[in-house]
Amino acid sequence: MVSDVLADRFFSHVLKGPKSHHCWLWCGAVGDDGYGRFWVKDPVTGKQRVLRAHRFAMQLVVGKELEAQEYVLHRCDNPLCVKATGDDSTHLRLGDHSVNMVERSARGRSNFQALRSGSKKERAAAARSVRDAVLSGGYDHELVQRFVRDLDEGQELLF
Ligand SMILES: [Zn+2]
Repeated sequence: MVSDVLADRFFSHVLKGPKSHHCWLWCGAVGDDGYGRFWVKDPVTGKQRVLRAHRFAMQLVVGKELEAQEYVLHRCDNPLCVKATGDDSTHLRLGDHSVNMVERSARGRSNFQALRSGSKKERAAAARSVRDAVLSGGYDHELVQRFVRDLDEGQELLF
């Protein structure tokens, strides 16, 4: 189980959109893959380790650590989003590798594109600039929408 203190620390880095369908944006560290980073102390070894923020969000909901083969998928396509809830309002859900691949190809993406470093770098830079913008100016739904759309278009250009 995750302690309340840890959950509180996690949510101190989260900016929730004002409307029920809005994303919950991770405003802490963003890794070079464009996903949030959250450091936790391993209860056994006492060492710090880093988790992807959206995976940690899902762990809070399921109440246990996720296995490596359990993927946390974004319904909203927003890598900064950590909106894991136990109900229909959730933007994150659990899947496995095959579900991830089917959804990607259904949306016209391939894993090869995502692995290209150029696209990753741009995605990380875009994610960080969205984070910085909402940290200083508050939640901006238009900005979030544009970010998600640009990510899609940027990936399609790599065909
Ligand atoms: Zn979302």
